[in-house]
Amino acid sequence: MARVPTEKDRIRDRIRYDYGQSVLKRYKLMKGCSKCGYNENAHALQFNHVDPKQKRFLLAQKAHKMVLNIGTKGKQKLKEELNKCEVVCANCHAIITYKNKHYAIHKKDR
Ligand SMILES: [Zn+2]
Repeated sequence: MARVPTEKDRIRDRIRYDYGQSVLKRYKLMKGCSKCGYNENAHALQFNHVDPKQKRFLLAQKAHKMVLNIGTKGKQKLKEELNKCEVVCANCHAIITYKNKHYAIHKKDR
């Protein structure tokens, strides 16, 4: 039976989301930028898919759901996806993206 989300539901979702984000944050800081080694602020660290064609989902959007909704299986999937990525800082990411022309690849796939 469908029901209208209550205030409780919203708080629970928020907690899940924050938890997922904190997992990614810890992971990013642990890894640091694979190009220059920067690891001071997780907000400046991003995931870069080594092979853009293998990208199945945007980590930042799915992480919290993967970690909590499907339990262990979700964690496994998240790990698989993380293994396809390298952590890079915003600076290096911009340079890599420009060099690889990811944008052009995405456009062609559509
Ligand atoms: Zn860097």
